[in-house]
Amino acid sequence: MANHILSKSTFIRAKQCTKSLYLNKFHKELRDRISPEQLAIFRRGTNVGILARDLFPGGIDMSPKSPSQYQKKVAETAAAMLDHSVTVIYEAVFQYNDVLIMLDILVRNGDGWNAYEVKSSLKISETYVTDAALQYYVLLGSGINIIDFQLVYINSEYIFNGELDLNELFTSISVIDTVKAKISEIETEVHQFKQVLSANKIPEIAIGTQCENPYPCDFKGFCWKNIPTKSILKLTSFSEEQLFDFVKKGIYLPSQIPFDFIQTELQQIQIQSINTNTSFWNKEIIKQYLSPITEQKTAFIKTVIHQPAVPAINGTKPYQQVLLAISISSSENTTKTFFIGDEISQKGNLKNVFDFLSQFNHLVTFNAFNLLQLIYLQQDISIRNSISERILDLNEILEKADFFHPSISKPQNLNDLNKILLSSYSNLKNESYLISDLLITPNGSTSLKFSLEQYSLALKQLSNYFIFEK
Ligand code: SF4
Repeated sequence: MANHILSKSTFIRAKQCTKSLYLNKFHKELRDRISPEQLAIFRRGTNVGILARDLFPGGIDMSPKSPSQYQKKVAETAAAMLDHSVTVIYEAVFQYNDVLIMLDILVRNGDGWNAYEVKSSLKISETYVTDAALQYYVLLGSGINIIDFQLVYINSEYIFNGELDLNELFTSISVIDTVKAKISEIETEVHQFKQVLSANKIPEIAIGTQCENPYPCDFKGFCWKNIPTKSILKLTSFSEEQLFDFVKKGIYLPSQIPFDFIQTELQQIQIQSINTNTSFWNKEIIKQYLSPITEQKTAFIKTVIHQPAVPAINGTKPYQQVLLAISISSSENTTKTFFIGDEISQKGNLKNVFDFLSQFNHLVTFNAFNLLQLIYLQQDISIRNSISERILDLNEILEKADFFHPSISKPQNLNDLNKILLSSYSNLKNESYLISDLLITPNGSTSLKFSLEQYSLALKQLSNYFIFEK
């Protein structure tokens, strides 16, 4: 059998953009380097797929050790299926019409087989169904009698109670009718994508909303190289469609946008902000929300949160936020850091944090979502309300004040904002690395304490910067 041309991942890539399919096949060297965030996610990721195998124990594993083994594994899978003593196969490998797939779990069911594809998410997306449809297409083409095809995913209602119960952690849905209905669509797309790969030239596809949807494309560095740093794509006051439409017409810079298209005051402000390389925010709004912190006791708070797919703390659900550490710098120049990642006394330790916070009139944080999630772990409603009422979310306040910066548009995180506006805390540790380090050292270390303090101190300095900047 000849080597495959498409796989599950390249098919999904092609659905997003055929140029990405082509570049991935013939110009891998143009791929963007993997970001620290992605690296950290890989490092700490629980292999949910491996865990789900125990739902159907005792199977044989066909996982190829390297791409050179694909064809061998196709033959071995076929041989194993003929052996009636084999009832479960993990990573069963099939190839049909130049498409290679590896199915997570295949379980014998009478004269046929049930197929299971495992997803580490809480809900099923359209991409997952397409993914299953491609697998069903290959299984059918390989002559396999598939009785049912199920997507196995994480049950959002599962609560960990001392011992992992896989039958409760996972839930599943049959997509057999949907994937059967998609067969001819898949057939057409396989044909189309194979043609793209045999065309001997990079497809001419302009950059657009597909570059981020459904996944950020890893060829942006190549495709977007001619886009100036301070291009119109930084403008948040126009729709994305409108901006990419401008790009198609060769309009890259805000100064090139035809006057007729500029319809709001915010659009004018943002264009001017890029043209003059200055940031903008409504100073009155900032003062209205932040000024009280100059007069009364205020805490500047940095939280580090982990959201494990598989919960390990009693009473928590999949992807529930678990506080790993919190650093609190006060307006009186004291700093306190709590490490709470010992997975045993999350609630007990949180009480110490809440007690400490009770002395402050204002609690400033960046993106209050994390802090609010923790507060909901607090059983006492009066304490809960009293803390919630004192929170000031710098990110939300900046949004209300229409904050805009020519390099980053809106601030996505405290680190971005710190880099562009302050120079004194230029070495904030990457948040993903902080999480990884705290998972390895849940009770903290001197260097972790220092890194966290830098964040809460930077937040304090940024808050003051916004209040006093003229
Ligand atoms: S960056 Fe955009 S245009 Fe380029 S390959 Fe990726 S999705 Fe396609």
